[in-house]
Amino acid sequence: MKIVDARVIVCSPDRNFVTLKIETDEGIYGLGDGTLNGREMAVASYLSEHVIPCLIGRDPFDIEDIWQYLYRGAYWRRGPVTMSAIAAVDVALWDIKGKALKTPVYNLLGGKSRQGVLVYTHANGKTVDETVASVRRYMDAGYLAVRAQCAVPGVASSYGVPKGGKPYEPAERGLPSEDVWSTERYLNFVPGLFERLRAEVGHDVHLLHDVHHRLTPIEAARLGKSLEPYHLFWMEDPTPAELQEGFALIRQHTTTPIATGEVFNSVWDAHDLIRKQWIDYIRMTIVHGGGITHLKKTADFAALYQVKTGFHGATDLSPITMAAALHFGLAIHNFGIQEHMHHSELTDRVFPHEYSFNAGYMYPGDAPGLGVEIDEALVSQYPYQRAYLPVARKLDGTMTDW
Ligand SMILES: [Mg+2]
Repeated sequence: MKIVDARVIVCSPDRNFVTLKIETDEGIYGLGDGTLNGREMAVASYLSEHVIPCLIGRDPFDIEDIWQYLYRGAYWRRGPVTMSAIAAVDVALWDIKGKALKTPVYNLLGGKSRQGVLVYTHANGKTVDETVASVRRYMDAGYLAVRAQCAVPGVASSYGVPKGGKPYEPAERGLPSEDVWSTERYLNFVPGLFERLRAEVGHDVHLLHDVHHRLTPIEAARLGKSLEPYHLFWMEDPTPAELQEGFALIRQHTTTPIATGEVFNSVWDAHDLIRKQWIDYIRMTIVHGGGITHLKKTADFAALYQVKTGFHGATDLSPITMAAALHFGLAIHNFGIQEHMHHSELTDRVFPHEYSFNAGYMYPGDAPGLGVEIDEALVSQYPYQRAYLPVARKLDGTMTDW
């Protein structure tokens, strides 16, 4: 089998997605996701200008060799643009191999390690009452794990809380909006939120919380310690992770489990975090982390240190990545949990898919390959529109981490 054509499809069915379609001389094609939220066209250009010409004529079954060719062959290694582009190719090749061998991708990764993939979704509210009600709604819908975020009194536009009545979607068309942040108000507020949640919803549901890189290590240590009575499933991204040893300080002070890595793009971003057991869950995604090939190696490395996966799964990755993550999560032994933020109804129509949700778990389906399509006729009606994630400033105007 030979690759005869490949092209990038950029579309915006409610939000932007970058899709790579690789076609072969046997009529089998594969789909890969290269979406990088707020920097979509950089990946699209990287693929069109620099990667696709190198793919034509290659055997799509040579997934490892093509991965190494694109990673080592560029000379310039790592980084979110490069690794998202490599991921788009890699995932499309796994899709092709599954279709050619008439088997779902999870069978190529070792087969099923479990019956379903435990997922968590996002609850939020402008008040504690609203957040409690939101968590309850998802529990009633069957979720066994729920992330809880709440507007912090005195802090306009808190992370994880929608501004209008729509579902939370941080990327907005136009130039970046500016959020406001107060560490002091946040740290004083959050323990009470989880005290109330446990009192209201009991102890059987897994509760998670995303700090979104907002704290210093010692502030994160204080938060983790204050949340211990409410035994969170995890505290996510407590501090920016460029300084990996910052997590050692958090670890010294709290037993609240820690998840990080949704912005990572290489195992080298998490090398010390994993081998020194400073984290419990690695959140690097298939789309931003070089695809299934690199995530498999990262997960196997993490398994040696009893670190589990907890992949990012927001709407800023397409249903192609969601499907790939579900095949992956079904197959590997050290799977922990998978984030699941619902795509819009329009996005789901553009990307018809086999995966499904039932009673707290998701299932990738048994279609050959990944089990995701793209409706190209529909795509043409929704061209790319520039959009950005917000930025954040402290109350005195200082730029801080969003
Ligand atoms: Mg997050």
